[in-house]
Amino acid sequence: MKHVANKINNLRAALHQYNYEYYILDNPTISDFDFDQKLKTLQQLEAQYPEYADTNSPTQRVGGGVTKNFKTVTHNFPMYSLDNTYTREELLQWEQRILKRLDKDSVSYTCELKYDGVSINLTYQNGTLFRAVTRGDGVQGDDVTQNVKTIPTVPLKLRGDYPDFFEIRGEILLPLAGFEQINAERTAQGEPPYRNPRNTASGTLKLQDSALVSKRPLTCFLYALAGENLEINSQFEALNRARSWGFKVPKSVAYAATLEEVLDFITVWEAKREDLPFEIDGIVIKVNDLAQQRILGYTSKSPRWAIAYKYQAQQASTTLTGIQYQVGRTGAITPVAQLHPVVISGTVVKRASLHNEDQIQKLALRIHDTVYVEKGGEIIPKITGVATSKRGLTQDRVVFITHCPECNSELQRLPGEAQHYCMNTSGCPPQIIGKIQHFISRKAMDIEGLGSETVVLLYHEGLIRNSADLYTLRSEDVLPLERMAEKSVANLLQGIEASKSKPYHKVLFGLGIRYVGETVAKRLAKAFPSVNLLFDATFEMLTATDEIGERIALSILSFFEDQNNRLLLKRLAEYGLILEQKVEKPTSDLIFSGKKFVISGVFTGYSREALKEKIEHLGGTVSGSISSKTDYLVAGVGMGPSKKQKAATLDVPILEEKAFNALLTENNLL
Ligand code: AMP
Ligand code: ZN
Repeated sequence: MKHVANKINNLRAALHQYNYEYYILDNPTISDFDFDQKLKTLQQLEAQYPEYADTNSPTQRVGGGVTKNFKTVTHNFPMYSLDNTYTREELLQWEQRILKRLDKDSVSYTCELKYDGVSINLTYQNGTLFRAVTRGDGVQGDDVTQNVKTIPTVPLKLRGDYPDFFEIRGEILLPLAGFEQINAERTAQGEPPYRNPRNTASGTLKLQDSALVSKRPLTCFLYALAGENLEINSQFEALNRARSWGFKVPKSVAYAATLEEVLDFITVWEAKREDLPFEIDGIVIKVNDLAQQRILGYTSKSPRWAIAYKYQAQQASTTLTGIQYQVGRTGAITPVAQLHPVVISGTVVKRASLHNEDQIQKLALRIHDTVYVEKGGEIIPKITGVATSKRGLTQDRVVFITHCPECNSELQRLPGEAQHYCMNTSGCPPQIIGKIQHFISRKAMDIEGLGSETVVLLYHEGLIRNSADLYTLRSEDVLPLERMAEKSVANLLQGIEASKSKPYHKVLFGLGIRYVGETVAKRLAKAFPSVNLLFDATFEMLTATDEIGERIALSILSFFEDQNNRLLLKRLAEYGLILEQKVEKPTSDLIFSGKKFVISGVFTGYSREALKEKIEHLGGTVSGSISSKTDYLVAGVGMGPSKKQKAATLDVPILEEKAFNALLTENNLL
């Protein structure tokens, strides 16, 4: 037993170290594959030996725990706001007030970026994360520990010489790349994109299921220590110490001996902030000496020893020349403001997002209005206001369109939805093109040799009206088209042919049913292993399925209600696409039918999950513990000695990986 405990501890220490090297030092020393292998081994050992559980094990990173209600926790030290300013003059005045209170001629500072995310207060006890609480109202916040444990830059176990008990504060944020990735996925699933990284990060922290949180690439930057008797004298030292304990403290933090140097820091980052992989909304300047900080103290809202310098939002005014309405793949209508071109922070802006009708109403927009346009962190510029004083008498109020600009059918706005939709799903050109583009996309049918542009071309040439038409294309149809040569046509047709062997769940995803993304498509394929079964499924059957809620269920039902969709599926079936999950033989004559298996240890050719699936696929069942009813113990490397013993006592035959594979080979199953 001692041996197992050691093994578990060593694995944990190694994984904490690899995590640190990868996420904090940006310097991985092990491949992702090896990391995953070790993590899997640890997960197996922990499952097998629950007596060695550790709530700060590296296995906590993948989440799993569900928080139904976030507990309210009172902060030991309140979490204050920051005073802020937009001008350098006010900074000088701030310094004057400080010098006067301290009765000094000069003070030094620490400069930090003001990370734009959600503040978090972490408590560490004896070197392990004890609790993570949101700022809330500053006095009380929510306990989001389960979720925060999945963030890889939050250390679960500290390094070096740390105090026994302390709190550390930081900002949890979603870097821009991660934000864009999430939105790309949402758009692919026909869901509206999230507005900005900060709200997305804050929403993510409040998800109940920590496994979902672990999939969002959140990060955490630390900026302040709180505690008693920490034996640290300055803010800059505090940040360095925190870094040495394994926290992520960005390299951008700087010591400034004078306010001059602070102003330089501001200038430098004013330009550089555009290139940061995450959003900031300014700079935070803190009096460096902690003794001086104590003398200065707090107002009711904020510390006197710190101030935020906010960069002017990059704004400009210009005229609104019109509104364009875009129609998406799912028929969603997005109004886009057309602007007289204006340069904002180096780029020409001609359009701004307006999201939906409510947004237009809120701004009470009229054509030819002078509008203020802001290009913040958000990818698409937005209109923040209207200069009503400049408005003429005869300008027309913007009235949201009632009919689709592309196909002229009447738009609908469903109760509870902000978006208008064109319901003419099978006759509206951008919807048709968008659907086919989705169908051929990488995560769906992944048709090689066929790109989005070609889909547009084929559509305009009248060659395709839906995804099924792709399978009727002949080379003599395509060859005469612009930019088509023998070779590209051959590739295209070959790619289309090859797509016929894509698995059922990819076809299902490719259909572009609203709210049915990749994961949901896989679930559906499993629960309803043929398109006919899915077609017959009732609302109750659908919602009884894991991860399928009412919204998705209704969307599926309405998809199948549409005669055109049924026809489409019929044709896809005729052309030989796979519309069912392959099941081999009826379970009664599979080689393992009725047999009970127990799996132990790790395997070279399978993950444990895969091995389990394989056995179940062949009719067997897999359970966790050995009993007299067990038919086989499949033993990998590092099988627990107690299991071995038990198998011997109960006379359960042991199958090693080799023997297991041999059995499959004999039956032509490998
Ligand atoms: P505000 O919400 O504008 O009053 O600003 C205060 C918030 O700024 C704090 O609650 C932190 O979440 C956030 N913040 C971001 N970066 C820093 C930093 N380097 N130092 C202190 N606070 C920061
Ligand atoms: Zn339309």
